[in-house]
Amino acid sequence: MISHKYEIEPMINRRNFILGSTITSITAFLGLKEPVTAKSSNVTTEIKPIVISTWNHGLPANEAAWKIIKSGGKAIDAVETGAKVPEADPEANSVGYGGYPDRDGNVTLDACIMDETGNCGSVSYLQHIKHPISVARKVMDDTPHVMLSGAGALEFALQKGFKKEELLTDKSKAAWKKWLEKSEYSPIINRENHDTIGLLAIDQKGDISGACTTSGLAWKLHGRVGDSPIIGAGMFTDNDIGGAVATGMGEAVMKTLGTFLIVELMRGGMTPQEACEEAVGRIAAKQDYKSFQIGYLAINKAGEYGAYSIQKGFNYALHKNGDNQMHKANYLNK
Ligand code: ASP
Repeated sequence: MISHKYEIEPMINRRNFILGSTITSITAFLGLKEPVTAKSSNVTTEIKPIVISTWNHGLPANEAAWKIIKSGGKAIDAVETGAKVPEADPEANSVGYGGYPDRDGNVTLDACIMDETGNCGSVSYLQHIKHPISVARKVMDDTPHVMLSGAGALEFALQKGFKKEELLTDKSKAAWKKWLEKSEYSPIINRENHDTIGLLAIDQKGDISGACTTSGLAWKLHGRVGDSPIIGAGMFTDNDIGGAVATGMGEAVMKTLGTFLIVELMRGGMTPQEACEEAVGRIAAKQDYKSFQIGYLAINKAGEYGAYSIQKGFNYALHKNGDNQMHKANYLNK
């Protein structure tokens, strides 16, 4: 493994963090001009390439992403390639092809991607395209915009050479028909243990990127868009600090801009684990959290990681030191 050195900001202690974060929050929320950055120093740390992703479908996604990292490729290519694995898998019924439809039978997809320069792209309410993550990448690479939605996103994808496809499989159609018999709409916690895929990666240069892609909540209202395509909600990275991804009830993540919050908490000195727990705590403090699931993953520049959820059952795939394994996240609602 190639080992490089890079500059990392020092982890500051908890007391300094509280003071620092208060100042940071006040300046940020008042819109003042002080840069919201931690103090810098010349601490150097060895780069530790890593890929981490949500749920069981993260395992094959990590495998595909790691091949790119291992051969010296970029984290942005790794996360896109990894995300495409469950997107193409008809058995992954919360992502891409074979994803469960909305209550009217439409498969509508949300995805976003962010690179080491802070550039990002996103699509929401995209229909008929198997790889929304790659359309999001094109939005990032080929347009001055961040987000394209609905018919415009589809038109853009077709112009870029993506193929129009039927994404509703016989299996997902049958599941939808069954749901229609009762048409009950309440969030299902850990639906079949594989929801949105969110991936974070650090490559051999130490650069960080993230991706997130989903068919959203099954049986959602037609037109509903969740957290997954929203930069700072479903996914956020900052190459100086780290990154975070979210899965679960997107509305709760959007109300707290969860992944942006996690990165900012890490900027203030929290570990990835502490930041994930704090972000879950922010949801629990104001929302009826016992009825839904949220899972967060985070990494920092040093290759440390964290995972935390509201309910039991959130798991994640971690590819580290050449080893790709599933892990169970700790959770709040015990
Ligand atoms: N966060 C996704 C959404 O709300 C769904 C999920 O992760 O299961 O659309």
